[in-house]
Amino acid sequence: MRSYSAWSIRAQLVVLFLIILSLGGLGAWRIHLHGVELDGASHHLVNEQLPSLAQVHRLQFEVVSIEKLLMALRHQGLTPSLLQSLTQARLRVLDMVSTGALERHSPVLVRLLEEGAGRLDELLALYGEGLSQGERLESVFSATLSVSERVQGELSSMSEQLMLSGQSYPDTVRALNQQAMEMAMGANLALWLLVGAVIYLLRLYTKEHRRSLRLTSFAKRNPDPVMASNLNLEVEYANPAALSLCRLLGLSGPATLLEQIKPDAQQLIQQGDELLEREQEVGNRTLLVRMVLLKSLSQVQFHLKDISKARRVEKNMEHQVNHDFLTGLPNRRQFERDLKFWLKESQHDVVVGMLHLDRFQRVTAAIGFEGGDSVLKGATELLRNQLNKEADPDAQLSLYRFESTRFAMLWVTPFKRTRVKALAERIRRGFASPVVCVRTNRRFHFTLSQGFAATGLSERDVDSLVRDADCAAGRAAAQGGDRLCIHTPEQGDMERRRVQLEQDLRYALERNQLQVYYQKQCNHHGQIVGAEALLRWQHPELGLVPPDEFIGLAEQTGLILDIGEWVLEQACLQVCSWNGQGGEMGVAVNISARQLMDSKFVERVESVIQRTGVDPEMVEFELTESMMMENLERGKEVMLRLKALGICFAIDDFGTGYSSLAHLSQLPFDVLKIDYSFVRHLPRDPYYCKITKAVLSLANTLGLTVVAEGVEYAEQQRWLARHGCDLMQGYLHGKPMPIVEFGKVLEVEPLAH
Ligand code: C2E
Ligand code: MG
Ligand code: MG
Repeated sequence: MRSYSAWSIRAQLVVLFLIILSLGGLGAWRIHLHGVELDGASHHLVNEQLPSLAQVHRLQFEVVSIEKLLMALRHQGLTPSLLQSLTQARLRVLDMVSTGALERHSPVLVRLLEEGAGRLDELLALYGEGLSQGERLESVFSATLSVSERVQGELSSMSEQLMLSGQSYPDTVRALNQQAMEMAMGANLALWLLVGAVIYLLRLYTKEHRRSLRLTSFAKRNPDPVMASNLNLEVEYANPAALSLCRLLGLSGPATLLEQIKPDAQQLIQQGDELLEREQEVGNRTLLVRMVLLKSLSQVQFHLKDISKARRVEKNMEHQVNHDFLTGLPNRRQFERDLKFWLKESQHDVVVGMLHLDRFQRVTAAIGFEGGDSVLKGATELLRNQLNKEADPDAQLSLYRFESTRFAMLWVTPFKRTRVKALAERIRRGFASPVVCVRTNRRFHFTLSQGFAATGLSERDVDSLVRDADCAAGRAAAQGGDRLCIHTPEQGDMERRRVQLEQDLRYALERNQLQVYYQKQCNHHGQIVGAEALLRWQHPELGLVPPDEFIGLAEQTGLILDIGEWVLEQACLQVCSWNGQGGEMGVAVNISARQLMDSKFVERVESVIQRTGVDPEMVEFELTESMMMENLERGKEVMLRLKALGICFAIDDFGTGYSSLAHLSQLPFDVLKIDYSFVRHLPRDPYYCKITKAVLSLANTLGLTVVAEGVEYAEQQRWLARHGCDLMQGYLHGKPMPIVEFGKVLEVEPLAH
């Protein structure tokens, strides 16, 4: 149903009243015109026609009496009484002529009457001369009578005309009456129609009025405060809830309340928007104010809601969502939000720190998780205190609990390595004091692995900064903890390369990207006695990747088990091929700790030996001293089982670890490989010469064959040979090379027998 607004109904009513007024005025004007017309017709009849008709009748009478007197004159002659009567009759006629009325109706008649009067005068003059007969008298007589006759005729036609026009008067009156009647009926009908329309509109208006009354009462009973103002922001209405709100806020009235939201309301009016929503703090309360601009009513409505409680709950919830329950520190979510904010808003560098508590596990292992929580709180306090000392009011420095035993730090300040180092050192010093577990009263000392990244050195986005700082902290932890690492772009590149290698390594074996290179091992005559199998990765994008870069990844991911088996198989196949014609060329294969600790390692080796048919005595496994020291018992057991198969063992990279030969002597090694880091100083550095000599004599005592790695110069070879080194491996004799190249070398170079 179409609903009319009270305003449009009122406008329509006004239009209707104007129509009624105009129609009334028009009707009155028309009736006035009719009256004027009727008055004219009556006036004409009464003042013009009736007197004229009376005059005509009087003239007819006079003419007839003059004719009679003329007849008497003819028969009797002129008597004094006749003369008198004729003279009087003539005078009366001329009197009538002199009024001028006849002149207006019929000038012809006036001419005839004047002619008749002239003829009468002539006749009377003739009688006065004493003529009673004669021709001349006769002609005057007949002329007079003829004039009289014409006068009669003229009068009759005048009388007829006047009668006729007098008769049209009732018709005129009737026609005018008829018109007036029709007009009155039309006006009546129009009036009824208009009255009908007015009644209809009035009913609508009443309905609308009632509706708006109902709406007003709706606002009145609304439990939420509602106010309305004009466009000058003067309060026009405030419902009871608004009044109670004012009392609650301690305000004198709605006008004072409106005063507080005036700027926003003014903005709404100026911009001409329909709706504006704002939150406004009034006193200690939060109001949600929805302002609605009703341009057509020149009104602004204010719908208010006291949302203080909801906001409090929200703030509380937000605090819980963004803060760590245990330490009360802002959490990772808040950290990421803040970091995003500062990256956008700050002109300064943003420095992100990741602080790992080193080896926290020992705490939970010692006092359980609840005790661990208490220690973590204590550690947080220590950290917080140290950061509070960095009280630079210009710099924003905040601490967050990122997760578990990792804390994040956000520092908005110009980046300087020295400042970061100083801060890290202060934190380190803070942890010189122990953290006490409140529950058990036990004390724990902690160190931190601190990693920092800054906007100048990393990409300016949340993910990059967090990733780089965390990687730096990871590096610090990997280096034993209790240290600081600051991310550099180069490290970032290395990290990315590392991630790519880790991903691609999974497919390297199945895609045939791995190759085994071989490097000669020669006696001091330069004859080849064996070769070391060294793995290479021909990466489709990165080219030849050296093993130092990916062996560690292969170990971490466990891929080394399959890769190592594949290398062993390749090496065994080569030994078979080299020794096909009865030669005795050995091959050394590097074995990683992960392989040695694998429960199925021995079975795997057995299976390879079986598959390839290799003589196990031609195969040597190289193990590093550090890896043996970590797993001495298990390593020994595996070594013995493999030794039983006929496999030999070499201690690789000897001298780089901290193991003692005394320890290593418990293991069934056959060969000792002196590391390149020693050999490279020979024979010039007396210190290394001394150590190498000691190692050589001890190895001799233990019955180990000694191989020197990284022999690059002839003088090194000479020195080593002189001091009892059995075999040499190094660029002097040949670099590691692919199997095809190595095959060619074997064809021309002598093998030791
Ligand atoms: P490593 O077993 O000590 O191998 C000797 C390393 O010294 C080789 O590096 C070799 O290229 C290098 N080298 C040989 N002669 C010279 C020289 O005269 N001067 C210099 N500067 N270096 C020389 P490469 O091939 O890069 O291998 C590095 C390490 O990777 C190896 O050290 C070994 O620990 C590991 N590795 C290589 N292949 C394998 C494998 O198949 N399995 C396992 N688990 N580790 C492997
Ligand atoms: Mg080796
Ligand atoms: Mg080595």
